[in-house]
Amino acid sequence: MTTPPVCNYEGSDYQSSFWDKGGREYEDRTEAIALKRLLPKSGRLMLELGAGAGRNTPRYLGFDRIILLDYSRTQLEQAQERLGASDKYVYVAADAYRLPFVDGLFDAATMIRVLHHMADAPKVLGQVKNVLRSGGIFILEFANKLNLKAILRYLLGRQKWSPFTLEPVEFVELNFDFHPRSIRNWLKGLGFSIEKTLTLSHFRVGFLKRILPTGVLVFFDSLFQWTGALWQVTPSVFVKARRSELQGLHGVETSPALANLALFFKCPDCGTSPLIDRKDHLECSNCRKKWEFQGGIYDFREPIKN
Ligand SMILES: [Zn+2]
Repeated sequence: MTTPPVCNYEGSDYQSSFWDKGGREYEDRTEAIALKRLLPKSGRLMLELGAGAGRNTPRYLGFDRIILLDYSRTQLEQAQERLGASDKYVYVAADAYRLPFVDGLFDAATMIRVLHHMADAPKVLGQVKNVLRSGGIFILEFANKLNLKAILRYLLGRQKWSPFTLEPVEFVELNFDFHPRSIRNWLKGLGFSIEKTLTLSHFRVGFLKRILPTGVLVFFDSLFQWTGALWQVTPSVFVKARRSELQGLHGVETSPALANLALFFKCPDCGTSPLIDRKDHLECSNCRKKWEFQGGIYDFREPIKN
Protein backbone atom coordinates (compact mmCIF):
# COMPACT_ATOMS: atom_id res chain seq x y z
CA MET A 1 0.00 0.00 0.00
CA THR A 2 1.43 3.40 -0.88
CA THR A 3 1.03 6.27 1.54
CA PRO A 4 2.48 9.79 1.52
CA PRO A 5 5.99 10.35 2.91
CA VAL A 6 6.37 10.54 6.68
CA CYS A 7 8.31 13.17 8.57
CA ASN A 8 10.42 10.93 10.77
CA TYR A 9 11.79 12.12 14.11
CA GLU A 10 13.78 8.90 14.65
CA GLY A 11 16.90 9.69 16.64
CA SER A 12 15.90 13.36 16.89
CA ASP A 13 16.64 15.48 19.94
CA TYR A 14 13.47 17.51 19.17
CA GLN A 15 12.25 17.38 22.78
CA SER A 16 15.47 18.74 24.18
CA SER A 17 16.49 21.20 21.44
CA PHE A 18 13.05 22.60 20.58
CA TRP A 19 11.18 22.43 23.91
CA ASP A 20 13.56 22.11 26.84
CA LYS A 21 16.28 24.49 25.62
CA GLY A 22 14.53 26.23 22.74
CA GLY A 23 12.78 29.05 24.63
CA ARG A 24 9.34 27.50 23.97
CA GLU A 25 8.00 27.81 27.52
CA TYR A 26 5.41 30.33 26.32
CA GLU A 27 4.08 28.00 23.59
CA ASP A 28 4.07 25.02 25.96
CA ARG A 29 2.09 26.84 28.66
CA THR A 30 -0.47 28.29 26.25
CA GLU A 31 -1.04 24.78 24.85
CA ALA A 32 -1.63 23.47 28.37
CA ILE A 33 -4.34 26.12 28.86
CA ALA A 34 -6.01 25.34 25.52
CA LEU A 35 -6.03 21.61 26.25
CA LYS A 36 -7.63 22.21 29.63
CA ARG A 37 -10.35 24.26 27.96
CA LEU A 38 -11.08 21.74 25.23
CA LEU A 39 -10.51 18.27 26.65
CA PRO A 40 -13.24 16.19 28.28
CA LYS A 41 -12.45 15.90 32.02
CA SER A 42 -12.50 12.13 31.92
CA GLY A 43 -12.95 9.19 29.61
CA ARG A 44 -11.78 5.66 29.05
CA LEU A 45 -9.52 5.54 26.04
CA MET A 46 -7.51 8.40 24.56
CA LEU A 47 -5.35 8.31 21.46
CA GLU A 48 -2.47 10.77 21.33
CA LEU A 49 -1.33 11.01 17.70
CA GLY A 50 2.27 12.12 17.29
CA ALA A 51 2.89 11.85 21.02
CA GLY A 52 6.63 12.37 20.57
CA ALA A 53 8.45 12.28 23.88
CA GLY A 54 5.17 12.62 25.82
CA ARG A 55 5.33 16.35 26.50
CA ASN A 56 1.53 16.70 26.56
CA THR A 57 0.65 13.24 27.89
CA PRO A 58 0.47 14.21 31.61
CA ARG A 59 -2.30 16.65 30.61
CA TYR A 60 -4.57 13.72 29.68
CA LEU A 61 -4.61 12.05 33.07
CA GLY A 62 -8.42 12.15 33.36
CA PHE A 63 -8.46 9.24 30.93
CA ASP A 64 -8.19 5.64 32.12
CA ARG A 65 -5.77 4.70 29.41
CA ILE A 66 -3.71 6.66 26.90
CA ILE A 67 -2.31 5.24 23.69
CA LEU A 68 0.79 7.16 22.64
CA LEU A 69 1.35 6.85 18.91
CA ASP A 70 4.36 8.11 17.07
CA TYR A 71 6.20 7.10 13.92
CA SER A 72 9.51 7.31 15.74
CA ARG A 73 10.44 4.54 18.13
CA THR A 74 13.17 6.60 19.79
CA GLN A 75 10.64 9.35 20.60
CA LEU A 76 8.45 6.73 22.29
CA GLU A 77 11.44 5.46 24.26
CA GLN A 78 11.97 9.01 25.54
CA ALA A 79 8.29 9.11 26.51
CA GLN A 80 8.68 5.83 28.41
CA GLU A 81 11.55 7.37 30.36
CA ARG A 82 9.57 10.49 31.13
CA LEU A 83 6.29 8.82 32.10
CA GLY A 84 7.59 5.66 33.76
CA ALA A 85 6.20 2.15 33.56
CA SER A 86 2.44 2.03 33.98
CA ASP A 87 -0.52 0.11 32.55
CA LYS A 88 -2.05 3.49 31.89
CA TYR A 89 0.17 4.04 28.85
CA VAL A 90 0.35 1.97 25.68
CA TYR A 91 3.14 2.77 23.23
CA VAL A 92 2.57 2.28 19.51
CA ALA A 93 4.99 3.01 16.67
CA ALA A 94 2.85 3.38 13.56
CA ASP A 95 2.09 5.40 10.47
CA ALA A 96 -0.82 7.82 10.97
CA TYR A 97 -1.92 7.09 7.41
CA ARG A 98 -2.47 3.43 8.35
CA LEU A 99 -3.73 3.37 11.92
CA PRO A 100 -3.61 -0.13 13.43
CA PHE A 101 -6.78 0.21 15.53
CA VAL A 102 -10.29 -1.20 15.20
CA ASP A 103 -13.03 1.25 14.22
CA GLY A 104 -14.86 3.21 16.91
CA LEU A 105 -12.31 2.41 19.63
CA PHE A 106 -11.44 5.76 21.20
CA ASP A 107 -13.42 8.23 23.30
CA ALA A 108 -11.05 11.02 22.31
CA ALA A 109 -8.01 11.75 20.20
CA THR A 110 -5.52 14.59 20.10
CA MET A 111 -3.18 15.64 17.32
CA ILE A 112 -0.97 18.57 18.23
CA ARG A 113 1.83 19.94 16.04
CA VAL A 114 1.48 16.88 13.83
CA LEU A 115 -0.78 17.80 10.90
CA HIS A 116 1.99 20.30 10.18
CA HIS A 117 3.97 17.36 8.73
CA MET A 118 1.18 15.73 6.74
CA ALA A 119 1.34 15.87 2.95
CA ASP A 120 -2.16 14.38 2.73
CA ALA A 121 -4.05 15.92 5.65
CA PRO A 122 -7.56 14.75 4.66
CA LYS A 123 -6.33 11.16 4.55
CA VAL A 124 -5.00 11.32 8.12
CA LEU A 125 -8.14 13.06 9.38
CA GLY A 126 -10.21 10.26 7.82
CA GLN A 127 -8.14 7.69 9.73
CA VAL A 128 -8.78 9.55 12.98
CA LYS A 129 -12.52 9.64 12.30
CA ASN A 130 -12.59 5.88 11.78
CA VAL A 131 -11.02 5.04 15.14
CA LEU A 132 -13.17 7.47 17.15
CA ARG A 133 -16.41 6.24 18.62
CA SER A 134 -19.68 7.89 17.70
CA GLY A 135 -19.74 11.22 19.56
CA GLY A 136 -15.99 10.97 20.27
CA ILE A 137 -13.93 14.13 20.67
CA PHE A 138 -11.04 15.15 18.45
CA ILE A 139 -8.69 17.96 19.51
CA LEU A 140 -6.70 19.12 16.52
CA GLU A 141 -3.94 21.71 16.42
CA PHE A 142 -2.85 23.03 13.05
CA ALA A 143 -0.37 25.60 11.79
CA ASN A 144 -2.28 28.49 10.22
CA LYS A 145 -1.13 29.92 6.88
CA LEU A 146 -3.54 32.83 7.39
CA ASN A 147 -1.44 34.34 10.21
CA LEU A 148 -0.75 38.05 10.64
CA LYS A 149 2.95 37.76 9.86
CA ALA A 150 2.29 35.89 6.58
CA ILE A 151 -0.44 38.37 5.63
CA LEU A 152 1.87 41.35 6.21
CA ARG A 153 4.78 39.77 4.37
CA TYR A 154 2.52 38.93 1.44
CA LEU A 155 1.04 42.43 1.26
CA LEU A 156 4.55 43.95 1.40
CA GLY A 157 5.68 41.72 -1.46
CA ARG A 158 8.16 39.78 0.69
CA GLN A 159 6.45 36.44 0.32
CA LYS A 160 5.34 34.75 -2.88
CA TRP A 161 2.56 32.48 -1.64
CA SER A 162 -0.82 33.89 -0.73
CA PRO A 163 -2.11 33.28 2.80
CA PHE A 164 -5.66 33.80 1.55
CA THR A 165 -5.98 30.77 -0.73
CA LEU A 166 -7.29 27.43 0.52
CA GLU A 167 -4.48 25.05 -0.47
CA PRO A 168 -1.81 24.13 2.11
CA VAL A 169 1.61 25.75 1.74
CA GLU A 170 4.76 23.64 2.11
CA PHE A 171 7.27 26.27 3.23
CA VAL A 172 9.98 23.73 4.07
CA GLU A 173 9.99 20.11 2.92
CA LEU A 174 7.26 18.22 4.83
CA ASN A 175 6.23 21.32 6.80
CA PHE A 176 2.77 22.54 5.92
CA ASP A 177 0.58 25.44 7.00
CA PHE A 178 -3.18 25.24 6.43
CA HIS A 179 -6.02 27.63 5.80
CA PRO A 180 -8.56 27.48 8.67
CA ARG A 181 -11.43 27.17 6.23
CA SER A 182 -9.85 24.13 4.57
CA ILE A 183 -9.55 22.43 7.95
CA ARG A 184 -13.21 23.17 8.69
CA ASN A 185 -14.25 21.89 5.26
CA TRP A 186 -12.32 18.64 5.68
CA LEU A 187 -13.65 18.01 9.18
CA LYS A 188 -17.23 18.75 8.18
CA GLY A 189 -16.88 16.56 5.10
CA LEU A 190 -15.94 13.68 7.42
CA GLY A 191 -19.02 14.26 9.56
CA PHE A 192 -17.34 16.11 12.43
CA SER A 193 -19.09 19.05 14.04
CA ILE A 194 -16.80 21.81 15.30
CA GLU A 195 -17.62 22.81 18.85
CA LYS A 196 -14.85 25.25 19.71
CA THR A 197 -11.94 27.03 18.08
CA LEU A 198 -9.12 28.66 20.05
CA THR A 199 -6.24 30.68 18.64
CA LEU A 200 -2.80 30.43 20.24
CA SER A 201 0.58 32.10 20.17
CA HIS A 202 -0.70 35.63 19.67
CA PHE A 203 2.67 36.84 20.91
CA ARG A 204 5.08 34.50 19.12
CA VAL A 205 7.34 37.41 18.33
CA GLY A 206 11.01 37.28 19.26
CA PHE A 207 11.39 40.72 20.83
CA LEU A 208 8.20 40.39 22.93
CA LYS A 209 9.41 37.06 24.28
CA ARG A 210 12.71 38.71 25.20
CA ILE A 211 11.35 41.83 26.94
CA LEU A 212 8.21 40.53 28.68
CA PRO A 213 8.00 37.84 31.37
CA THR A 214 6.57 34.58 29.99
CA GLY A 215 3.80 34.64 32.60
CA VAL A 216 2.52 37.97 31.27
CA LEU A 217 2.46 36.71 27.67
CA VAL A 218 0.74 33.49 28.73
CA PHE A 219 -1.91 35.46 30.64
CA PHE A 220 -2.77 37.68 27.68
CA ASP A 221 -2.66 34.79 25.24
CA SER A 222 -5.11 32.87 27.39
CA LEU A 223 -7.54 35.83 27.25
CA PHE A 224 -7.15 36.14 23.49
CA GLN A 225 -7.58 32.41 22.81
CA TRP A 226 -11.37 32.82 22.85
CA THR A 227 -11.26 35.20 19.87
CA GLY A 228 -10.62 32.04 17.83
CA ALA A 229 -14.40 31.70 17.66
CA LEU A 230 -14.48 34.91 15.59
CA TRP A 231 -11.31 34.94 13.49
CA GLN A 232 -8.04 33.02 13.24
CA VAL A 233 -4.90 34.97 12.38
CA THR A 234 -2.40 33.41 14.81
CA PRO A 235 0.25 30.85 13.80
CA SER A 236 -1.40 28.07 15.82
CA VAL A 237 -5.09 27.10 16.04
CA PHE A 238 -6.83 24.48 18.22
CA VAL A 239 -10.14 22.95 17.16
CA LYS A 240 -12.46 20.78 19.21
CA ALA A 241 -14.51 18.56 16.90
CA ARG A 242 -17.03 15.85 17.68
CA ARG A 243 -17.60 12.79 15.54
CA SER A 244 -21.22 12.67 14.44
CA GLU A 245 -23.50 10.42 16.49
CA LEU A 246 -24.24 7.41 14.36
CA GLN A 247 -27.22 5.22 14.98
CA GLY A 248 -26.20 1.75 15.98
CA LEU A 249 -22.59 2.71 16.66
CA HIS A 250 -21.97 3.42 20.31
CA GLY A 251 -18.69 3.33 22.13
CA VAL A 252 -20.05 1.03 24.80
CA GLU A 253 -20.89 -1.66 22.27
CA THR A 254 -17.95 -1.29 19.96
CA SER A 255 -15.11 -0.63 22.42
CA PRO A 256 -13.53 -3.77 23.75
CA ALA A 257 -12.94 -4.09 27.46
CA LEU A 258 -10.06 -1.95 28.66
CA ALA A 259 -8.14 -4.93 29.95
CA ASN A 260 -7.84 -6.75 26.66
CA LEU A 261 -5.18 -4.89 24.68
CA ALA A 262 -4.98 -7.35 21.79
CA LEU A 263 -8.58 -6.45 20.88
CA PHE A 264 -7.59 -2.82 20.24
CA PHE A 265 -5.54 -3.60 17.17
CA LYS A 266 -6.14 -4.50 13.58
CA CYS A 267 -3.63 -5.39 10.90
CA PRO A 268 -2.58 -2.09 9.25
CA ASP A 269 -2.02 -3.90 5.95
CA CYS A 270 -5.23 -5.90 5.50
CA GLY A 271 -7.50 -4.56 8.25
CA THR A 272 -8.08 -7.93 9.95
CA SER A 273 -8.88 -8.02 13.68
CA PRO A 274 -8.38 -9.32 16.24
CA LEU A 275 -4.69 -10.12 15.93
CA ILE A 276 -3.26 -13.21 17.57
CA ASP A 277 -1.17 -12.43 20.66
CA ARG A 278 2.19 -14.26 20.34
CA LYS A 279 3.80 -12.43 23.31
CA ASP A 280 6.72 -10.86 21.40
CA HIS A 281 4.53 -10.05 18.40
CA LEU A 282 0.96 -9.87 17.14
CA GLU A 283 0.12 -12.04 14.18
CA CYS A 284 -2.51 -11.38 11.54
CA SER A 285 -4.70 -14.47 10.98
CA ASN A 286 -5.42 -13.37 7.41
CA CYS A 287 -2.20 -12.13 5.75
CA ARG A 288 0.08 -13.77 8.37
CA LYS A 289 2.14 -10.65 8.85
CA LYS A 290 3.82 -10.33 12.23
CA TRP A 291 3.96 -7.05 14.13
CA GLU A 292 6.65 -6.74 16.74
CA PHE A 293 6.10 -6.06 20.43
CA GLN A 294 9.39 -5.28 22.11
CA GLY A 295 10.54 -3.11 24.98
CA GLY A 296 6.92 -2.17 25.70
CA ILE A 297 6.37 -0.77 22.18
CA TYR A 298 4.02 -2.21 19.57
CA ASP A 299 5.59 -1.64 16.17
CA PHE A 300 3.24 -1.50 13.19
CA ARG A 301 5.52 0.32 10.76
CA GLU A 302 6.97 -2.74 8.99
CA PRO A 303 6.15 -6.40 9.60
CA ILE A 304 8.85 -8.64 11.05
CA LYS A 305 10.89 -10.28 8.30
CA ASN A 306 10.73 -14.06 8.40
ZN1 LIG B 1 -3.16 -8.69 7.77
